[in-house]
Amino acid sequence: MKRIAILGATGSIGTTALSVLRTRSDLPLKVVSLSAHNNKERLLALSKEFDAEALCFTGDDQKGGFHGYDGLKAMLDEYPVDIVLNGIAGFDGLKASIAALEAGCDLALANKESVVCGGSLLFELAKKHDAKIIPVDSEHSAIFELLKGRVREDVSSLILTASGGPFRNRSLSTFDSIAVDDALSHPTWRMGKKISIDSATMANKALEVIEASYLFGFQGDEIEVVIHPQSIIHSMIRTRDGAIYAQLGNPDMSLPIINALTSMSSDLVKPLNFNHLSLTFEEIDYARFPLLRCGYDALSRQGGYPLAFNAANEVAVEAFLSERITYPKLIDIVQRTLDHDWTFTPTTVEEIIALDREVRLASKELM
Ligand code: NDP
Ligand code: MG
Repeated sequence: MKRIAILGATGSIGTTALSVLRTRSDLPLKVVSLSAHNNKERLLALSKEFDAEALCFTGDDQKGGFHGYDGLKAMLDEYPVDIVLNGIAGFDGLKASIAALEAGCDLALANKESVVCGGSLLFELAKKHDAKIIPVDSEHSAIFELLKGRVREDVSSLILTASGGPFRNRSLSTFDSIAVDDALSHPTWRMGKKISIDSATMANKALEVIEASYLFGFQGDEIEVVIHPQSIIHSMIRTRDGAIYAQLGNPDMSLPIINALTSMSSDLVKPLNFNHLSLTFEEIDYARFPLLRCGYDALSRQGGYPLAFNAANEVAVEAFLSERITYPKLIDIVQRTLDHDWTFTPTTVEEIIALDREVRLASKELM
């Protein structure tokens, strides 16, 4: 039986993980600990249902038991687990990834911001503590499977698929009037608010390009993105002989989540039915999705640029979600924040947190 911690248990990733465990009691996984930020009622209910040994609230107003990010670390030390599922949303998830690796646990990583902002630090910690980092993001989970048993030199590029989100066909002249609910209406995936907005702007795909570069060791010009509105092909790899290998399945996060937690996940998702299945592809239109271009630029400039891209985007998305800025202004803030000089490369956790704070201030000044 593998002992697991689910961080961000009340969110979309956490809920999907726990709903699989609810119906698949045969899986050799025992929920030992859970975390949420502030949603006390839901976390207490989940803890009772799954008979968890420990809980942590990372939000501000929590008292007693484990709380804050130090509490998260203490919880992982006092209640050891084999693997941590990090389903926390946003930059703060980095602290949880660090806590998990320092506790010597394997890390099933949904929190892509961790890799984008602290990639090399995480890989160093994983090496030092002999822990594995296993991607949960559906595209990266697919590539992780596709690369198994292959020699890096034989693979010429990774191909990430993107649904194109809710604005794939919307007239550009109406982008001024995009409402929050329009941007939250993802055509194929049900996810948390932040990642749903990122899917509309394709900042999510930009973060995923950076994530793929760091996880698998491919340069930006070796990572392609193609629009595939049905979200059936989760990603592909192109080999030097000219062939392409793909992973297909219905859009369901159960598979990547459970695959990262255990290799014994048979009969997990509904098999794909080829009857009436039609798969289509479109080229990226960068005038429509400028943040994808911006993410590629951040990756090629290196230094603090990938972190700056993430921080500026988090600030702008939060402002858009609370209706303080329009959709075009969201895009503009991210682009203009990256016009600053972010060449300094942060290496320690303190430097990463300080740079994140500095970028956020710069972005807020552009509001
Ligand atoms: P949600 O917003 O649905 O859930 C976020 C979870 O994190 C909640 O449990 C929330 O607790 C907790 N949380 C929020 N803020 C903080 C914080 N500052 N510190 C600690 N915990 C916090 O997000 P998703 O599940 O959609 O996404 C989680 C991560 O997984 C993101 O990095 C996303 O990019 C990635 N991902 C998600 C996919 C999906 O299908 N949803 C697919 C691929 C990747 P509380 O409820 O108490 O606020
Ligand atoms: Mg993804």
